Amino acid sequence: MYIDTHCHISEEDYDNIEKIIENIGNNIAIISGADEKSNYEVVKLCNKYKNIYGTLGIHPGQIDNLSDDIFGFIEQNINNPKIVGIGEIGLDYYYKNDNKQKQKEIFIKQIEIALKYNKPIVIHSREAAQDTYDILKNYDNLKKVLHCYSYTLEMANLFAKINVKFGIGGVITFKNAKNLVNVVENINIKDILLETDSPWLTPEPIRGTKNEPKNIPLIAKKIAEIKKMEIASVLQITTNNAINQFDLKI
Ligand SMILES: [Zn+2]
Repeated sequence: MYIDTHCHISEEDYDNIEKIIENIGNNIAIISGADEKSNYEVVKLCNKYKNIYGTLGIHPGQIDNLSDDIFGFIEQNINNPKIVGIGEIGLDYYYKNDNKQKQKEIFIKQIEIALKYNKPIVIHSREAAQDTYDILKNYDNLKKVLHCYSYTLEMANLFAKINVKFGIGGVITFKNAKNLVNVVENINIKDILLETDSPWLTPEPIRGTKNEPKNIPLIAKKIAEIKKMEIASVLQITTNNAINQFDLKI
């Protein structure tokens, strides 16, 4: 069994959501909200499908023109048993770097919601390693994962010390993934969560098609190769990691 700990499944991206969800079978996908519309869709899909869990949050690239009630919606739905975290939230200075202060404020505001309801957070961080670290180090005990980890091994070692887990996805299979291979080789398998970030970042050898959660085994295969482990144990250990991280009642 596998758990895709971070992906986006929305009618906007797929012609046939039913089929994508059917392909997950008895495995699990945790779908992530990123803005008001997708948060709403996450709740809807969680309520409808047994193998779908979700997280709610506002992505750092979506913080302009927020309605007053956006955090209200998150709080109203946070106790839904299928909603297992706050995400994806964070900092993205690649996308936009003239609003760093606002990004930090919205990030921290959502971390505080996670604390209030004792939920883990799923973090998006791009070209913002130091600021992300400086914020997260104030929340040592909070369960947190850096999804689609892209920073150095040195940073990974610092993050691991403050209880951060690492979401590893299709990028690990790419030819130019030397840095990430080095990271995965050296971090503890207990700190790794598998994710596809569907519909993006499709792993090799099917890069170029639309990604979906059923591709998780391709990522597990590559990690098994790097860490010289059996694929089955990579799947088993990372599934347990995900169950613990998101406190899944399965
Ligand atoms: Zn994402």
